[in-house]
Amino acid sequence: MKLVIVGGVAGGASAAARARRIDENAEIVMIERGEFISFANCGLPYHVGEVIPERSKLLVMTPQKFKKRFNIDVRTRNDVISIDRSKKTITVRRTDEGEIYEESYDKLILATGSSPIHPPIPGVSDPDVMPLWTIPDMDRIKARVDSGAKRAVVIGAGFIGLEVAENLVERGVQTTVVEMLPQVLPTMDQEMTTPITKELKKHGVNLLLDSRVTAIHRPETDTEVSSELQVAIDGHDNIVADFVVLSVGVKPNSELAVQAGLDTGERGGIKVDTKMRTSDPDIFAVGDVTEIFNAVTGNPAQIPLAGPANREGRIAADNALGRETYFKGALGTNIVKVFDLGAGSAGCSERQLNKDGIPFNKVYVHPMSHAGYYPGACPVSVKLLFNDAGKILGVQAIGYDGVDKRIDVIATAMASELTVEDLAELELAYAPPYGSARDVVNYAGMVAANVLRGDTTVVHVDDIPEDAVLLDVREPDETAEGTLPNAVLIPLGTLRDRLDELPKDKKIVVYCKVGLRGYVGERILKLNGFDAANLSGGWTTYQHFLG
Ligand code: FAD
Repeated sequence: MKLVIVGGVAGGASAAARARRIDENAEIVMIERGEFISFANCGLPYHVGEVIPERSKLLVMTPQKFKKRFNIDVRTRNDVISIDRSKKTITVRRTDEGEIYEESYDKLILATGSSPIHPPIPGVSDPDVMPLWTIPDMDRIKARVDSGAKRAVVIGAGFIGLEVAENLVERGVQTTVVEMLPQVLPTMDQEMTTPITKELKKHGVNLLLDSRVTAIHRPETDTEVSSELQVAIDGHDNIVADFVVLSVGVKPNSELAVQAGLDTGERGGIKVDTKMRTSDPDIFAVGDVTEIFNAVTGNPAQIPLAGPANREGRIAADNALGRETYFKGALGTNIVKVFDLGAGSAGCSERQLNKDGIPFNKVYVHPMSHAGYYPGACPVSVKLLFNDAGKILGVQAIGYDGVDKRIDVIATAMASELTVEDLAELELAYAPPYGSARDVVNYAGMVAANVLRGDTTVVHVDDIPEDAVLLDVREPDETAEGTLPNAVLIPLGTLRDRLDELPKDKKIVVYCKVGLRGYVGERILKLNGFDAANLSGGWTTYQHFLG
């Protein structure tokens, strides 16, 4: 059996190592066009920022180590240029010498990843306009910073753009982030990204949302070419920068597959089945280059993340070597650090559910990351999306502590098809420094279960009935930071004594700081014959919506 793998980083290296672990005799060849294999692409921004000072730490494996440990024939600087499915061969070009050769395969795994998109902006090919995708990209950006560059523009506010911005700021670079959408981090819903926007601004990032870079220009005279770039942005003055980082998204490297006539999806990803087989049963594909399926909706999805790439590599190797293992789809579980803040999500966003026409309920909660009386507790803001049967459709969380744990627990619950009622019942580790007896996850599940049982009627900030009476049940000193327009103030502790101040013929939307006292107020009103609802997430969510 001869297994050939094209691409030697996340998916390819996982497939190669797995293949060797299950078959000592197979001939395994891993072909990589770049200089490095199995490098830590996720760590690249942190070497630019010198959080990871040693570059060598990013080079997880060398071809020599791979050969020694796994007996795999690793060929770097070898570019696979075509596949001949009828002959079961690939054509490879050695990039140094330009020599071309053929290699046969019994099974082929394509792990060719994706490439950063270069938008069609005039000036985008200037050498100081760079993506951050490979080790050489990282070296170029870091060299610019090391040599004294002080002003940068980052185009795109997705994960990588935000990580780059943070790390440039940490190096003292004045950084502007330009994003054409009205929000950062498009995997989350807009209101959930407000704390990120604030965090970026707090740390001095010049964030331009709803803005588009229209041209990048290097001024020159007859005698001189400027060392500066002029970045033209729709609706803003030009920004002067020493360099520009491009992070506007990626496209799958599926040219080989297309040339070989393999099926690809609408956005160019190679179509695969649950065994990671392409439309040719002898060719598998894994990682960013594939079109997989969303585990919540079952719809085709492209999820360029390291976790799925690694898992898929393993599954493809199993199946290529005769085992039967199956890919269960991806939730796109993710997290990003933005200075001191963590932001993560799993499953679908509200925007995605609306786009796919999937009905949902939602709740917002803001419980403390651990017991409030233990130092360092801070709110974790969670948005939970679920259907009428209690199935969890998506989660988003943001906060200064404990976001990773909550996203991971809820993602695990989703993969195990637990319901929101199950979340409420989960028995999770608790001691005051780590959590609460009723953890954030339990709390989110309880609120969602209350909605399904009809114990609470939630109203959302973007859907408050026009003629509703807004009832603020916070204490007077809390209202100093503001109230909802025309709200009636009756602190919760006095509500039972002041019921006669409220109308019985109108909807009353109760709110407090985060939704808990609002719920108690709603219950008091309902049990006294009022038509009451609770504003989900209270004043805190309202502020997130205001931006
Ligand atoms: P890759 O790891 O990109 O490997 C593909 C390889 O194939 C490349 O080395 C390429 O040179 C090679 N190749 C392509 N075509 C050919 C050919 N024709 N012949 C030979 N070789 C070829 N994901 C996360 O989950 N969390 C993170 O925090 C995170 N951070 C990231 C930060 C950065 C800066 C970057 C760049 C990515 C990050 N990712 C993160 C994404 C993650 O790294 C990718 O999803 C993952 O590496 C995809 O694995 P892959 O094997 O499909 O592709």
